Amino acid sequence: MAKKYVEKTILIYICERCGYEWESRLRLEEGLLPKRCPRCGSPYWDRKRKNGRKNKIQKAMV
Ligand SMILES: [Zn+2]
Repeated sequence: MAKKYVEKTILIYICERCGYEWESRLRLEEGLLPKRCPRCGSPYWDRKRKNGRKNKIQKAMV
């Protein structure tokens, strides 16, 4: 019997404001990003206050 592997890609978003990390299964292909940080509620969770960096998105294999 062959083992079954379930491969998932979960995106981990990191809020630049409060440092909160959360998972999302939104599809990047659709260009969907969370509107707000679920913790601090900031709509600018993906932006730093000074120089606008690109949002940190890490791919994690679970
Ligand atoms: Zn936050």
